[in-house]
Amino acid sequence: MMITGNLYDILAHGFEDRLDRPAFIEPGGRETSYGALAESAARTAAWLISHEGVEPGDRVALLVDKSVESVILYLATLMAGAVFVPVNPVYTPAEIAYFVENAEPRLLIEDGRAFVERAAAMPPLARTVARTADDLAAIIYTSGTTGRSKGAMLTHGNLAANARVLHALWGFTPDDVLLHALPIFHVHGLFVALHCAMLSGAPMLWLAKYDDAQVLAMLPRATVMMGVPTFYTRLLARPEFGRAQTGHMRLFISGSAPLLASTHAVFEVRTGHRILERYGMSEAVIITSNPLRGERVAGSVGYPLPGVELRIAEPDDQDTGVIQIRGPSVFGGYWRMPEKTKEEFTADGWFVTGDVGRCDGDGRVWISGRAKDLIISGGYNVYPKEVELVLDDLPGITESAVVGVPHPDFGEAVVAVILGDAPEADVIAAARATLAPYKIPKRVVTLDELPRNAMGKVQKNVLRQELAGLFGAVVR
Ligand code: AMP
Repeated sequence: MMITGNLYDILAHGFEDRLDRPAFIEPGGRETSYGALAESAARTAAWLISHEGVEPGDRVALLVDKSVESVILYLATLMAGAVFVPVNPVYTPAEIAYFVENAEPRLLIEDGRAFVERAAAMPPLARTVARTADDLAAIIYTSGTTGRSKGAMLTHGNLAANARVLHALWGFTPDDVLLHALPIFHVHGLFVALHCAMLSGAPMLWLAKYDDAQVLAMLPRATVMMGVPTFYTRLLARPEFGRAQTGHMRLFISGSAPLLASTHAVFEVRTGHRILERYGMSEAVIITSNPLRGERVAGSVGYPLPGVELRIAEPDDQDTGVIQIRGPSVFGGYWRMPEKTKEEFTADGWFVTGDVGRCDGDGRVWISGRAKDLIISGGYNVYPKEVELVLDDLPGITESAVVGVPHPDFGEAVVAVILGDAPEADVIAAARATLAPYKIPKRVVTLDELPRNAMGKVQKNVLRQELAGLFGAVVR
């Protein structure tokens, strides 16, 4: 096969010797081989071009349910030289209308299964449409907790570079079997997981969504699992989970949200495995990773990937500041938002991630939170993560989330939301032993559950909204 800069060709080169092997194994027993996947993608690509008039550079938007057909449509879009725009199907019609207006796709596919079925009678596209590394492959709308969601433009080169590095770094081989329980409207499930498996032609145990019982049943057949931290906490909540299911696993990877050090520790005790934590975002796919061989440190997201440069802007006296990056997987900008793009790149071309963190003497990266989550109380800067780490260690607290809430005297007050069973006065007293006075929560609120998005991220904006009146009406 001739390899062009088209990401599809690069992925297909990884599985071309394994066309008769399964790509997807579903719990009901359905299997789809790599050969069937490639053929179906080529037929669908032919349909996109000849029946829908898709031309290179056109956007193809899909309401992405977790199905093999959604993957076929992703690959077909790449083959046709078009730009894939995955849309989370839980979005409301008004939200979807915004994506359509912004991305101006040639078509919005609402039912991927029916679409792929219709294309099944097409003769397969003979040759992938040539693309260069700089051509767009996908637009990923950021989860956008504030303001309008922005479309991060990722090129064939961005995605191929990241896929190749991760495939090597995490030691993927054709003998691997990846347990895939992530959604695929997001970079984690769509790019990180799929590309690593495809580059080795490795089978995926394909779950429509995360489900404890299905994961427990499938794990004994897997060698690698990728997940968000809540997958791991939910597994640990099942008393039967342990070495019986994980004995022959090679690797557990976590990302998209911070993994608590306590989860890391308990997981090791129960299974003997140290979860490998990595850090990434829609705008750059994966940025740092703990090592496959070598120490995986709980609480750190590891080292910048080969080829990624990382620096801390304007570090404070604890060497902490906003993380900036540069490298082959960093996106080119936000679709049709040149002003936003300009705001988030420095004059010398580094992308401002918006994450706050530091690099230790060993080069490992530690994340303290998002710049916009920074609390300024009485003129002092408080990084929520520092307070959360102290609270998480207190007896009776399972997890905490610290936010700034409007306060008549302090501007913002530090407020802790906790899961567990710990009296407010005790928490505040215990925090005093470790934290400077201005970092001590003014109030501690106990909830049964933290609000989280589909990727397991705690939605601090929701907490801030709910707690806004805690200190009475604030006149600004
Ligand atoms: P998204 O673009 O939806 O993937 O969100 C990216 C954001 O998720 C990053 O900017 C980080 O704030 C957060 N994130 C991803 N991985 C981690 C991690 N391992 N630890 C802490 N935060 C993370």
